[in-house]
Amino acid sequence: MDVLTVINTFDGSEEAVKPTPGGRQRRLNEDNHERQQTKKIHYSGGGRIPTIGCKHTSAKCFCQADRLTPDDLVMNFQKFHDKPNKVEQDAALLYLMSVSEVKRQRQNDENRQKGRNVTVKYSLLWDEHPNKLPVCKATFLSVLGISKDRASRVAQYYAETAEARPERRGGARNIEGSDSRRQLIINHIKTFTCRASHYGQAYYSRQLYLYLFGVVRHHGENSRQPKEDVHLYVWQENQGPKDSNMIASALNDCFIVRLASQIRRSKGLRLFSDSC
Ligand SMILES: [Zn+2]
Repeated sequence: MDVLTVINTFDGSEEAVKPTPGGRQRRLNEDNHERQQTKKIHYSGGGRIPTIGCKHTSAKCFCQADRLTPDDLVMNFQKFHDKPNKVEQDAALLYLMSVSEVKRQRQNDENRQKGRNVTVKYSLLWDEHPNKLPVCKATFLSVLGISKDRASRVAQYYAETAEARPERRGGARNIEGSDSRRQLIINHIKTFTCRASHYGQAYYSRQLYLYLFGVVRHHGENSRQPKEDVHLYVWQENQGPKDSNMIASALNDCFIVRLASQIRRSKGLRLFSDSC
């Protein structure tokens, strides 16, 4: 089996990629310590990893998630989680949420109890600050690492009071260890080689196909076959495709350049192909 080599676009180092026949599950080992640390924090709920939560493309959808770079993800996550308390976090959310009320013709008591019907448009910060990038709810939540309940509570409260929610949980929340967590997140995002290929150029190396088209002039049964009667056309896949046009060009060259005089002198031409 071929061994592919993938160049990590972040630090330029090469790592060999071996296709595995039995599945893609990574085996845990010591070298993955950093990754394991990231996972540990991730699964313990102590920290979340900003990720894009959808597959929307800006060409086809209002959601511009595919324009966010890994740096943008970290920036959004950091700016949000570095806020000293929940009130400021909620205010930051509102800066990125455009809340509008859905007007209902009739609003009975039941509706009022459930809260207002609001629509929310979400956006995230990106490179061209202060312009914001519209995104779908899924990506908004997954990049900031918040629950959909929290987002809708903030939107609901804003719709009713036109302000961010006051603190209801007893003072500033502890954001201890945010520096080490930030570094873990950055390290983790740097492992997203596949995702990175979206944003910049991705390089990879592998063996190239070598194509060969051979024309052998045959002199009849049991005749000798000197090397002068063998014409080989050889090219690499980066030089041209292996298609009918290329084969016809090679054959044309053989007839009108290599074998022109012999063909002119002959009375007939019979072509055989072993079709390989
Ligand atoms: Zn989206």
